[in-house]
Amino acid sequence: MGVSLRQTVKVGAYVLRQHLAGRKRYPLVLMLEPLFRCNLACFGCGKIDYPDAILNKRLSVQECLDAVDECGAPMVAIPGGEPLIHREIGEIVKGIVARKKFVSLCTNALLLEKKLHLFEPSPYLFFSVHLDGIKEHHDKSVCLAGGFEKAVAAVKAAKARGFAVNVNCTVFDGHPAEDIAKFLDLAKALGVGVSISPGYAYERAPDQEHFLNRHKTKELFRRVFALGKGKNWNITHSAMFLDFLAGNQQFHCTPWGMPTRNIFGWQKPCYLLGEGYAKTFTELMETTDWDAYGTGRYEKCANCMAHCGYEATAAKAMMRHPLQAATLAWRGMRTEGPMAPEIPLDAQRPAQYVFDSNVQLTLSQMRANEAREKAAKEAVKAAAQTSASAA
Ligand code: SF4
Ligand code: SF4
Repeated sequence: MGVSLRQTVKVGAYVLRQHLAGRKRYPLVLMLEPLFRCNLACFGCGKIDYPDAILNKRLSVQECLDAVDECGAPMVAIPGGEPLIHREIGEIVKGIVARKKFVSLCTNALLLEKKLHLFEPSPYLFFSVHLDGIKEHHDKSVCLAGGFEKAVAAVKAAKARGFAVNVNCTVFDGHPAEDIAKFLDLAKALGVGVSISPGYAYERAPDQEHFLNRHKTKELFRRVFALGKGKNWNITHSAMFLDFLAGNQQFHCTPWGMPTRNIFGWQKPCYLLGEGYAKTFTELMETTDWDAYGTGRYEKCANCMAHCGYEATAAKAMMRHPLQAATLAWRGMRTEGPMAPEIPLDAQRPAQYVFDSNVQLTLSQMRANEAREKAAKEAVKAAAQTSASAA
């Protein structure tokens, strides 16, 4: 999420309230996925490998706003799929902004210039444009020649219309630190903040060869941060999360910090993993076996260092160690010396593969709903015919 002073104060006050109330688990950012359909097919994407019936399904405006109210998080990120494909995306965003929640609309920007008229600039709204590095890396990542120029043009167009814009960058193995540094220089020149994170190893991603393991992630970010000394890049993450990326913190993830609502329901346990679904946010919080997930506990979590799993951990750490957080923000991350000990993986439970059964269950429910709706319509029609013939 981008960070204005208003957002820092409001979200900081929210976290403080939760902390003082002694709440063990609370949401920080609602990840709202109103559809899975996309107009790109990126090599590292694990979000769009579904049958057409699923890709064609949308959350309605009301379902989206109900999710925002139910969850109560002060920030809402709208990823996808490509949210700008959703015909009612303007109304969804308007409804969330009216609730004074900070909205980050994540987009690959192919449709952004065309759809800007659907939105109004607001301190509660910003676009988070997918940009995976300088041209060479972005075009490769999104499997589209010229994708970089399109995204940069859309960033400029949105900024020119008065919108707040950030870019989000996913990093894969083979992305040299020097090129990431050039990208962060470019973002600074464009006047946009950057959210940057190692890609999670989605089991459904077309390319399984280029995900970073934890050790490589930490080494890479140490090199990037060393190159950035004195450059004043605008990276929109907390200093504690960046320190974690640099290998200086042994954090456990906080999957409930960024709960996910999509067309399947409330996703267990996090944005990255779909191991099951709950009907309500309360059911998600109360019935998920949180201790069954995380690095060292579950095989699919072994290499995860993605910001959606750890920003809420970092926020909690900042509450507990404000002096350490202030020193980090002032001095920057340590990029040399020993790293924090890695979490052992020898006791993790093996991966379970539930994707097909989740999809099949949803497809059967969709067919059953369609059959019920059809039967109800036919009953209404038959009743109307009967009363017409009686008259
Ligand atoms: S990463 Fe984003 S833009 Fe790329 S295919 Fe997936 S949803 Fe679409
Ligand atoms: S480590 Fe945590 S955030 Fe990452 S995939 Fe596992 S449960 Fe999700």
